[in-house]
Amino acid sequence: MNRLSCSFCSGGAIYLDRESGKHLCESHLIARVEDAVRSEIRSVGGFQSGERIAVAYSGGKDSSVLLDLLVNVVQPETGIDLVAVTIDEGIARYRDATVQAAKDLTTRLGVPHRIVSFQAAFGKNLDSLLAGREGRACTVCGVLRRRLLQQAAREAGADRLATGHCLDDEAEAVVMNWLRGDLYRVAGIRPSGGESCMVPRIKPLSRLSEKEVVSYALLRGLAFDLPECPYTRYALRAGVRGLVHRAEYLSPGTMSRIVAGQEELEQRLHGVGGRTQFSTCPDCGEPMLGSTCRACTLLGGDRDNH
Ligand code: SF4
Repeated sequence: MNRLSCSFCSGGAIYLDRESGKHLCESHLIARVEDAVRSEIRSVGGFQSGERIAVAYSGGKDSSVLLDLLVNVVQPETGIDLVAVTIDEGIARYRDATVQAAKDLTTRLGVPHRIVSFQAAFGKNLDSLLAGREGRACTVCGVLRRRLLQQAAREAGADRLATGHCLDDEAEAVVMNWLRGDLYRVAGIRPSGGESCMVPRIKPLSRLSEKEVVSYALLRGLAFDLPECPYTRYALRAGVRGLVHRAEYLSPGTMSRIVAGQEELEQRLHGVGGRTQFSTCPDCGEPMLGSTCRACTLLGGDRDNH
């Protein structure tokens, strides 16, 4: 059987980019992943030597790829300082294994590692907080995890917080905003007034598809065999992911076009009025949007007992 060659050299192809029709060998796939990360970092102003980057590190494959790239590619080129932050939500039959994977890789890579748990911060793990409202698992988990990530990044003295969102995640988020009727997010209208209290986020993998990230993880020995979160089945994202992937399969490049369309909309509407404002929650002291702190609302009476 004839082996397909790389579209850029005589090496054997291991990857097909369906959008461009190009085949890539191992070294060209690795180069493409590294270039996409450099390019995304440049697009948000680049990194300065000594800048401290907190990495939201779940222990899963996307954030493992992110950490590996930051340590082995970006840090030597820019002189950034890295700290990994793992949030342990406390999810039975899932989190212990991913937290252990996070400990193992940070030790191997020599990156300082902070683990922050829902139990320590809120007095209960996610499983207990959810009791009777499992259908809202991802909403509760997402709001509280983002809160702890921001706090941990701030406490670590981070200048920016890097997350492992890839192109698939970004395209799914755009579709989910439409499905939720969240017009502020659809229009890309960001809240104002939070710049001083929020550590700015950066998404170095956002130009790479999940397929590219998984392929890179396999090549770099980062595709660990980990359990899936038991609450995934309740997530709107799971349904949206199926839709987006089906559309990408039928029309390669769909995900890139969804994200590009969103970015163009944001640029065209930049400066449009009606921005929501950050203010400070009188109960927890953290930034909140408008007059409601989502974290305190979701914690309800649980905060009072802690
Ligand atoms: Fe949290 Fe939902 Fe992700 Fe599970 S699937 S870790 S509940 S956001």
